Amino acid sequence: MAEGQRESLAGSGVARGIAIGRAHLLAPSELEVRQYRIERRDVVHEIGRLTKAFNEVRDELTLLKSGIAPDAPNEVRAFLDLHLLILEDALLAETPRDLIRNRLINAEWALTIQLEEVVKQFEAIEDEYLRGRSTDVRQVVERVLNALAEGRPTRVALPTKLAAGERLVLIAQDLAPADVLHLKDRADIDLAGFVTELGGPTSHTAILARSLGLPAVVGAERARSVIEEDDIIVIDADNDAVIVNPSAEELTGFRKRLREEGEHRTQLRKLKGRLARSSDGIAVELLANIELPEDARDALEAGADGIGLFRSEFLFMDRDELPTEDEQYESYARVARAMKGKPVVIRTLDIGADKVLTEAARDTLGMGRGAPRPESNPALGLRAIRYCLAYPELFLTQLRAILRASEVGTVRILVPMLAHAHEIDQALAFVARAKEQLRDRRQKYDGRIQIGGMVEVPAAALSVSQFVQKLKFLSIGTNDLIQYTLAIDRSDSSVAHLYDHLHPAVLGLIAHTIQGGAKAHVPVSVCGELAGELEMTELLLGMGLRQFSMHPAQILPIKERLFELSTKEAGRLAGRVMRESDPVKIRAALERAPAP
Ligand code: PEP
Ligand code: MG
Repeated sequence: MAEGQRESLAGSGVARGIAIGRAHLLAPSELEVRQYRIERRDVVHEIGRLTKAFNEVRDELTLLKSGIAPDAPNEVRAFLDLHLLILEDALLAETPRDLIRNRLINAEWALTIQLEEVVKQFEAIEDEYLRGRSTDVRQVVERVLNALAEGRPTRVALPTKLAAGERLVLIAQDLAPADVLHLKDRADIDLAGFVTELGGPTSHTAILARSLGLPAVVGAERARSVIEEDDIIVIDADNDAVIVNPSAEELTGFRKRLREEGEHRTQLRKLKGRLARSSDGIAVELLANIELPEDARDALEAGADGIGLFRSEFLFMDRDELPTEDEQYESYARVARAMKGKPVVIRTLDIGADKVLTEAARDTLGMGRGAPRPESNPALGLRAIRYCLAYPELFLTQLRAILRASEVGTVRILVPMLAHAHEIDQALAFVARAKEQLRDRRQKYDGRIQIGGMVEVPAAALSVSQFVQKLKFLSIGTNDLIQYTLAIDRSDSSVAHLYDHLHPAVLGLIAHTIQGGAKAHVPVSVCGELAGELEMTELLLGMGLRQFSMHPAQILPIKERLFELSTKEAGRLAGRVMRESDPVKIRAALERAPAP
């Protein structure tokens, strides 16, 4: 073991768990960029160099993509696609050519001028997630610069002194998703995790780490000045910490935790085939939230009882032409078939607010109330059901596709962001119209298909007694219910500290909705993030919730928790919490709840 000095660093842990390994420091990612002027007669040659470098990087990323294991998380493919997309973007691919031609400068210089321009544009974007994408642009440009500097390695170099059987912890200023994939795929090294100085929890590299299950800490500012090559590193992602050269005693403790984590994962997998129920035998359904048809695989692997929320809008985003009825049908039917008769709740398009169609796609919507215009307050504007009612063809096309898919499985329709009872009436009238159109075409659908609604707006929660008369099921979208109850934009980090799911008003609306559903024998689920949070399971169970829909990765941990909880105890906890009006005391009551 290295005899280096013990240090600890703080950052943001981006995947759960512990990783132990030897440090390998990557050289700073910034390259020294050669800058020089060229003669007019060299313009063609210089443009040729640039084209060749772009092609090499494209080939490299395409090759990486083709090597992705079929069971790899979807994010892996998505990141490579994003980098390929950036590579194809005219701003990066074309403008540097003009710069070479007009300013007579070399390819590297032209590319970095354009990079700064593009990054400036990204940094002016308000949306934190999109702003963070400037890192992806830098990473792509760095690869092209590497390819231009012939002879330089374009891949991460191997550490020199790694002993057999030892795992590797990568220490870098920043890492591109492609680098992580290269290392993860190499048979000669065993990547335990990584630490970067830059990046936040929403950076693509961080998201990739999470989906690959690699513990990582990002934003550990002094990492490369504190850590030396071959130091022993412990990544404690749960506690946002990196421990450099821990004492022998500490290391023993971490190894023990690591073993326990592994054993716990094995234990959890054994729960897959068991039906979820409380310790006093009350059955609970655990459903999965998915964004794309291929996510159904994760749901099945986690043993989900069905799909509780298929966020269909992801089929419509990031593209210039809207999906046709047939394309949508294929996607919905694929999920319905994959789930083999288990329920599949397809939410109709929830576009608007932070989920937008491309400008080109919006241009194709020349119907309804005219071309969409920029909104001053998009979360309160034309979103979800409001959008669909404003663009009847868009809505009818989707409804026909969902109805057709109901022939191959147990499909249900879920309507988002309802606030008024008349919106339900209109949505039901659209479903009736779509059915009629299919009958005219002699196409089949399940005539008994159930239509449900999302409770995401306080008005909906307070109107539950009316809603249950018109709908067959309800699903509480706590992410938006919190946003709309507390008037906190869920994507605005400056008010994130006020986004409190334990606010008594929020809990009151959730409980009221669950009780309203129970009284009318209309099933109610929660499909917002709260459903997958272990600290909330007992309270929700105590409020009477019997259907939880969540990210597939949360299903087994929540199932394990449920086995340990009694509905009676949970009911008493809910009673205590609902009598409290102070979020601090509510939090304390939840923490005091006896550990099962
Ligand atoms: C919600 O609002 O809780 C929800 C599940 O919908 P989304 O997160 O897609 O807005
Ligand atoms: Mg929502």
